[in-house]
Amino acid sequence: MPSLYSNLLQKLEEFMIKDEKLGKEQSQRAIKSSLLSGSLSMALCYIQRVFRSGPLHPQPRILCLQGSPDGPEQYVAVMNAIFSAQRSMVPIDSCYVGAHNSAFLQQASYITGGVYVKPQHLDGLFQYLTTVFATDLHSRSFIQLPRPAGVDFRASCFCHKTTIDMGYICSVCLSIFCNHHKKCSTCGSVFGQAQSDTSSTSDLKRKAPET
Ligand SMILES: [Zn+2]
Ligand SMILES: [Zn+2]
Repeated sequence: MPSLYSNLLQKLEEFMIKDEKLGKEQSQRAIKSSLLSGSLSMALCYIQRVFRSGPLHPQPRILCLQGSPDGPEQYVAVMNAIFSAQRSMVPIDSCYVGAHNSAFLQQASYITGGVYVKPQHLDGLFQYLTTVFATDLHSRSFIQLPRPAGVDFRASCFCHKTTIDMGYICSVCLSIFCNHHKKCSTCGSVFGQAQSDTSSTSDLKRKAPET
């Protein structure tokens, strides 16, 4: 086991050095976000391979340690990975060390039944990793985990890849758009005209006495 740990620590150190180097190289272009969708997909592929490789049926879980902000342009890929993890019953735990909360990771942990933690003090990061994330799924029911502070359920529109509060959704494929389109760019469905103002106000008038 000690060799496993030293191997893991060595890999983590290599990752940190590589990450720092990449950050310096791209400082002019500024790194926008981490490739969360790619890493989730890779982890899920690995888990599927273990599942199919033999009678072993471990209880896998994914831990995401993220420091950079979310990339709204990855919304579709990240959500697909989250639902795939949900179907495979793989909880996604998230540890977010950035300045704000990560809506992607909050949703990932909420949907898959994992734990989302944003450590208040980074000095105690190791403590969080060992107490919250290292405990197996069975033991989690016995320990008092940090309470979730709520989940940011906002989505990104498919047309401009920006995070929106309100938008239009295709009733056929559930694609999200920030403004009204005549045709869905994902599935090609043609939308009817939005109800005119006169009919909606008469609707309101009719419904008003009932409430
Ligand atoms: Zn848009
Ligand atoms: Zn559609």
